[in-house]
Amino acid sequence: METCKLPVQSSEHLFRLIRDLFSVYRCNSVAMELRERKPPTLKEKFSDHYKNRDFTVKKTQINTIGVAFFWGMWISIFIEGHILTFQLYGDNWIKTGVIFVLIWFSAWQSFINWFGTYLVDVSKVDAAVKEKHHPGILETPAGWYNCPNCQVDVPPRSFHCKYCNKCVLKRDHHCFFTNSCIGFYNERFFIIMCISLIWCNAFASFLQVTYLNQTIPLSLFGILNYFAPVAFFQMLFGNMTFFQFFLTLHLFFTVGCFFSAIFFTYYHLFLICYGMTSFESTKKMNIYSHDTVLDNLRSVFGALRWIPLQFIFPFRVDQIDDGVNWNIRKRVKGN
Ligand SMILES: [Zn+2]
Ligand SMILES: [Zn+2]
Repeated sequence: METCKLPVQSSEHLFRLIRDLFSVYRCNSVAMELRERKPPTLKEKFSDHYKNRDFTVKKTQINTIGVAFFWGMWISIFIEGHILTFQLYGDNWIKTGVIFVLIWFSAWQSFINWFGTYLVDVSKVDAAVKEKHHPGILETPAGWYNCPNCQVDVPPRSFHCKYCNKCVLKRDHHCFFTNSCIGFYNERFFIIMCISLIWCNAFASFLQVTYLNQTIPLSLFGILNYFAPVAFFQMLFGNMTFFQFFLTLHLFFTVGCFFSAIFFTYYHLFLICYGMTSFESTKKMNIYSHDTVLDNLRSVFGALRWIPLQFIFPFRVDQIDDGVNWNIRKRVKGN
C-alpha cells in the first residue's frame, strides 16, 4: 500500500517553513519601504549634518592647518611687500631697491630655516643609536628607557612624539607650523626662523600702516578705521576700497604673528640659555644644563663665532654635545 507523504515531515521541517515564510514577508516589506522612501530634503540633510557634527581636529589635520598657516603668511607678506613698496616708493629707485633687499633677505631667512627645521630629520632614535653607544648590550642602559611604541631603548631627554610616531633626540616639542619635532639637531633652525618672523611681520606691519595712513590718517578716532569690522562697514559705505579693507585684515594678522614670534623666540632662547627643554621646564627639572650659558648656547648652535653667519646661510655645525650622553648636574628637588 502506497504511503501518504505529508508536506510537513517533522517539527524541525515545520519550523524552517515558518521561518522562510516570514523572511519572504520581511523582504517584501523592505522592498516596499525602499520604493516608498523619498530622497532626503535639504533641511533633512542639514539636520543630519548637524547631528553628526565633529569639530575635533585630527592629528593629521592640525599639521596641515599649521603648515598652510605658515605658507599663507609667508606668501601673502612676500607679495604684498612688493605691491606696497611700488605704491609707496615707486618714484624713488634707491628706496625701492633697499626695501626689496630687506624683503628678500627676511623672506630667504624664514624660507631656509623652515626647510632646515622640516628637513633636518636626523634626531630620530632607532636601534642603531644604542648599538653605537652601548654595543652588544641587551639590557636597557642606566638612565635610558624602553619606548613601548618604537620598541627600542632611548637615551635621556629623548621622547616619543605621537604626531611624528617616532622617538626624537632631546625632544623639545612638536611644531605644527613645520610639521616636525623640534629636537637636538633642528632647534637652531627653529630659533632663527622665529627671529626672522619677528622682523618679517614687523616690516609688513610698517608698510601696511604707512600705506593706510596716506588715505586714512592715524588719529585718535581715525584709528578705529584700522579695525576690520569698522573697515568692513566703511567699505560698504564706499569710504574705503577693497584693498584698504584687506590691508586692515592683514594688519591684524601680521601684528598677531609679530607678537607670537616674539613670544616663541623669547621663551625658547630662555630655555636654551638655561639648558632645558619645554618638557623639562614644565617639570621644573634643570638637571642637564652646562655650567655656563655660553656652553648651553654651544650645545644648540655650535661655535659662537659662526652664529651670525647662520642668519645668512644654513650649514653644518659641530655642537658640543652628541644628543645622547648628558651629564646630570644636580638632582631634582625632592627626588
Ligand atoms: Zn618611541
Ligand atoms: Zn613630532
